[in-house]
Amino acid sequence: MNFKSLPQLLDFFKDEQAGIEYYENIRWNGNPVCPHCGSEKPYKTNRGYKCSNKDCHKKFTVRVGTIFENSKIPFRIWFAAIYLATTHKKGISSVQLSIDLGITQKTAWFVLHRIREMLKEKAPKMLGETNTVEVDETYIGGKEKNKHAHKRRSLDDKTKLNNGAAFVDKKVVIGIIERNGKVVLKHVPRATKENMVELIHKHVPKGSKIYTDEFAGYSNLGRNYTHDTVKHAFSIYVAGDVHTNTIENFWSVLKRGLYGVYHQVSEKHLERYLDEFASRFNTRDLSSQGRFDNFLSQSESVLSYKKLIG
Ligand SMILES: [Zn+2]
Repeated sequence: MNFKSLPQLLDFFKDEQAGIEYYENIRWNGNPVCPHCGSEKPYKTNRGYKCSNKDCHKKFTVRVGTIFENSKIPFRIWFAAIYLATTHKKGISSVQLSIDLGITQKTAWFVLHRIREMLKEKAPKMLGETNTVEVDETYIGGKEKNKHAHKRRSLDDKTKLNNGAAFVDKKVVIGIIERNGKVVLKHVPRATKENMVELIHKHVPKGSKIYTDEFAGYSNLGRNYTHDTVKHAFSIYVAGDVHTNTIENFWSVLKRGLYGVYHQVSEKHLERYLDEFASRFNTRDLSSQGRFDNFLSQSESVLSYKKLIG
């Protein structure tokens, strides 16, 4: 089995049983585990499994304890949604997904948020062990009137944010990216030195090479890292190897997606959208199916509708 396109995926998952078998294999690899008590000896029943542990005896299907729990949407539609959400570089809106898959927009919205729950990084990533790392922060929301003056604007924004007054409506995101490697994103309340340094220390081993712009938040990085800065204030964006173009390019895809596809992203859900963009980027070298399997193997995570809207 090998699918490289949506029609091939839909052909392969032609009925619910095909989806169940595929997912059981990814989740349990032939050894079903009771999601209620962890027992590894369930009986097979007509509709799923029953736990053999006499203190448990609960029934379950492969969906229990995963993003598919309590959903009546067939696997075929779920898998098509995962495929679409993870192959569109800028993401897909719930309106578009509802049209593509013939489901209501409310369902599509919920499906997409559960997919984002699956895409969340489960273990902290280390960057910079093999390649140079670029760190930058960006501001989401507010008005983007003058995109050509983006660089200067962003420095102006930083100054103002440091002074604590204006741009309170903007949401701060820090990005750490390894050249030819992966990205880590984090939404922080403010672009303070403490927030910057804490995230960098968590994800970048000491001694790594880090490039940033001249924002004051990065001024002490030289203590633990080989740190160099680009002088954006003097309109210098590249000096030899020293630039932050990799993270700048990433910001541009992120913003085209957040503004162009999702229009408005509330502070409450921003982190989920960041997970989505980071995970797509971090799996860009995998095949469509490799990426699909990789994500499915991280789907043991339930997100209830109540929690999502609460
Ligand atoms: Zn059990």
